[in-house]
This record gives sequence, structure tokens and C-alpha cells, in this order.
Amino acid sequence: MKATVHVAGPPELGGYYQTCARCGHVLIDLTGSTPMVVEGQDPVIPVWPTGERVATIGNATYVVPTGRQLGADEIECRAAS
Ligand SMILES: [Zn+2]
Repeated sequence: MKATVHVAGPPELGGYYQTCARCGHVLIDLTGSTPMVVEGQDPVIPVWPTGERVATIGNATYVVPTGRQLGADEIECRAAS
């Protein structure tokens, strides 16, 4: 199984939704859920930095550092036509 490398698009809906800028794959979808917020603090929704290469394999997701070549077990996603 190869990891698919996506490119994070800008977060939408205040960070509740984020897709790949290239193929549209949903990277984050928290719509319909309620993030846990510590009482007295503003909610901080973690998002992928826009333009970051984000690899997904199964349910795991990780960042491919800038400048690193993709490994043999990583492939770029294909742009949606
Ligand atoms: Zn993609």
C-alpha cells in the first residue's frame, strides 16, 4: 500500500473543512462534530498549513517535509479533471 501525497488547500468553514488543492480529496471534515474546547479558551482547530504536502495512508496522515523527495512508497495524487 502506497501513501498518497496531497497538497493542502486553504482551510474552509473556520478550519472545519479542508481539501486537497489538487485533487479535492477531503483532508479534514469536522462538520457535524463538536471539537472539544477547554472551558474559558477559544477553540483551536488544527489545520494543515496551506500548500503543505500531506500524505495519507489508511487512516494515518503525515506531512512530507519541504524539499524531501518522495519515497518509493509514496505517490502524488492526480489532479481532478
Ligand atoms: Zn490530492
